[in-house]
Amino acid sequence: MVRSAVRISDPEYPRAIVHFDGDAFFASVEQMMDWRLRGRPVVTGGERGAATSLSYEAKARGVHRGMLMSEIRRRVPDVVVVRSDYTAYSIFAKRMYAIVRETAHVVEEYSIDECFADITGLDAELGKSYEEIALYIKEQLQTSLGITFGVGLAPSKVLAKAASKYNKPDSFTALPLSRIPDFLAQTSIGSIWGMGGSATLRMMKLGVDTAGQFIDKPYGWLVDEKFAKPYKDIWHELRGVSVRPVGEESVGRSGIGSIMRTRTFTPPSTDRSYVFAQLAQNIEGVCAKARRHGVTARGVSFFLKTQDFQYQSRSIDLPVALNTPSDLIRTLSPHFYELFIPGIQYRATGVTLHTLISAAAVTPDLFGESVRVGSRAKVFGAVDAINRRYGRNTLHTGASLLSYAATPARRGLHEGRLRFLLPIEQRQKALNVPYLGEVL
Ligand SMILES: [Mg+2]
Repeated sequence: MVRSAVRISDPEYPRAIVHFDGDAFFASVEQMMDWRLRGRPVVTGGERGAATSLSYEAKARGVHRGMLMSEIRRRVPDVVVVRSDYTAYSIFAKRMYAIVRETAHVVEEYSIDECFADITGLDAELGKSYEEIALYIKEQLQTSLGITFGVGLAPSKVLAKAASKYNKPDSFTALPLSRIPDFLAQTSIGSIWGMGGSATLRMMKLGVDTAGQFIDKPYGWLVDEKFAKPYKDIWHELRGVSVRPVGEESVGRSGIGSIMRTRTFTPPSTDRSYVFAQLAQNIEGVCAKARRHGVTARGVSFFLKTQDFQYQSRSIDLPVALNTPSDLIRTLSPHFYELFIPGIQYRATGVTLHTLISAAAVTPDLFGESVRVGSRAKVFGAVDAINRRYGRNTLHTGASLLSYAATPARRGLHEGRLRFLLPIEQRQKALNVPYLGEVL
């Protein structure tokens, strides 16, 4: 009797979802870029006076995120404080997504140091177990980027995220259906992704302290207690039923996500107004995306990339959270004019909104600035509606007008191509970060 050689996917994973989370990401990137920082307590966020990321050496000395630099310096006199370099972090992030995409078909860029991959069916396709595939990608990330990752494999995103957090750093946790109850019995409800402070308190008042106790409740309990849809989704996801597909665009709701947009233009240009218009178009793009997700940014960074691959960048903390382009263009323009060097050929610009918070959570400030911003948000709400109906960029700000100029003449294009073909060594030398392949 001949048996067919068709492989079937592991039934322990109705969906196989992997979450990758860079360990102490910003600090690790800094240590990767400068060997002198390796093995030392490193803290990023020097420009804002409070720690945004800490190396494991710093964490071991009792300092934590958000701590003031003065306090950190007092506790750890040999600490190395560096300014955030969002351009470098973004390059590492892009490379991270690209490496995961080399193996997985569906990848969601969740934040600057995290992504999800749906590898369902890949076990049968590759003749390897889901565990082997997830570990293979982890290995690829760690050898290419030189930083470690916490990795979780599970049948849903919420479970994968809980798994990647377990035993950090440099960890791998797999949660097939049969292991879920034991794992969740030891996981506090408050540590579950999407459980806010007030929801956690409510759960605890109802006698639910662990995620295990939560999934033991029948669905009717959630209905009786009038829990909103996001909590019902979490309940399904924790029970191993995927209701939040990977690939769905989403950004962090509590200051962890970022939104980035870059554009390369050909041929490169020395025209200041044209380069600024390119930057303005990117600002419009990230703002539209932020509004689509109902978030607003407390920080923004941008870069200009020259024809010989030099990056000039600035990172700015915003006193008032913003997601409207007119305000951001006004905020960034003086920085742009300081960075821009006349006579230099530029080939790309990019903007990243970071420290994202829910737009609904913005607290009004003393001077009413956030109220004024709020009324502009209404104007851009109308802009969004028009662009949704008639196509992207139907309506845009005057600042980006020049970026829509007619396609360059053939000769110019040819010239641009020739300059692009620099010897690889020269490109590596020009970058102020390790060469990680084409990322922009
Ligand atoms: Mg991380």
